[in-house]
Amino acid sequence: MINIEHVSKQFGSLQVLEDISINIDQGDIFGIIGQSGAGKSTLLRCINGLEKYNGGSITVEGKEIAGLSQKELQLVRKDMGMIFQNFNLLGRLNVYDNIAFGLKLKKEPKDIIEQKVKRMLKLVNLEEFADRSVTAMSGGQQQRIAIARALVNEPNVLLLDEPLGALDLKLRKEMQQELKKIQQEVGITFIYVTHDQEEALTMSDKIVVMREGEIQQIGSPTDIYNEPVNEFVANFIGESNIIDGVMLEDCKVEFCGRTFECVDKGFEKNAPVDVVIRPEDLKIVYAGDGLLQGVVESIVFKGVHYEMMVRTQFFTFMVHSTMAESVGKTVGLSVIPFDIHIMHKSAEAQA
Ligand code: ADP
Ligand code: MG
Repeated sequence: MINIEHVSKQFGSLQVLEDISINIDQGDIFGIIGQSGAGKSTLLRCINGLEKYNGGSITVEGKEIAGLSQKELQLVRKDMGMIFQNFNLLGRLNVYDNIAFGLKLKKEPKDIIEQKVKRMLKLVNLEEFADRSVTAMSGGQQQRIAIARALVNEPNVLLLDEPLGALDLKLRKEMQQELKKIQQEVGITFIYVTHDQEEALTMSDKIVVMREGEIQQIGSPTDIYNEPVNEFVANFIGESNIIDGVMLEDCKVEFCGRTFECVDKGFEKNAPVDVVIRPEDLKIVYAGDGLLQGVVESIVFKGVHYEMMVRTQFFTFMVHSTMAESVGKTVGLSVIPFDIHIMHKSAEAQA
């Protein structure tokens, strides 16, 4: 429904977006993720025509954004809601009037407005707060008002730019679930910008990882988590053990002085690779039982699991386990072939 092809954008001599190509399907939550300055907001602003791109094309339901007149653009924008980190609520109006604002501008009949606003108040669980001043509402409630205000106009697409960025961690987690639930109820497309990888992974159907204006990877959360295409994505998406290795042949990789079976194929013989093993995929076994052996250097309880650092001859591994081991103990580490992920060395690392 939204097609972005080879889009580039410069601010003066600063290249902010470079050769961005993305397809966004109807009804998906599409996550855009990357560090501050990666170009996420700029991309969002290009999609709804607030910013002009310098090259490539963006089509929304078949219409090329750059080719539209102001009037046509306004029509397209009517179908796109937008929510920002600072909710931009109208402080002098109560909750009801904030949500009704857009409909009143459109001069919709009073009874229709009332019907729609009431439905939204119910959707975001604020029915009993209609008459409250928005300034008397908590951060989470204000966020819900902002969502209701955007959805009341019945957009096809909702663009969300770090919508939960101003909330504390606990509230953010709650709102993530709530937003996802709302999205499923209304069935519209969400384009969801965040710098928080965990938020993107839990929220999105599909994710694009951006770095300095360029796409690093597009895929489902599990694709990106389990098969990061390079070291940047692996590091950005989650804590990982990234070890230098050599791909001996198909399904055979050497690292830490040992040869491991894996499931990856198609690398050149003896190609230098990065081997990625997630902390939760390493299993602590009796010393001597695993291919790797090391000493527990530290242990920290993380709420659900223990995080241990295990020093082997060549590499110190991060291991997550629900079982605690004592510091100083010699243990074995094992990993199944499926959990060994092989990546091409990034160009940077080779240079
Ligand atoms: P993100 O949302 O990923 O943090 P932005 O899209 O806001 O990144 O910004 C990307 C880059 O473009 C940054 O280096 C930022 O300073 C620059 N930038 C954004 N807007 C403008 C502007 N209007 N004029 C000049 N530079 C800008
Ligand atoms: Mg931004």
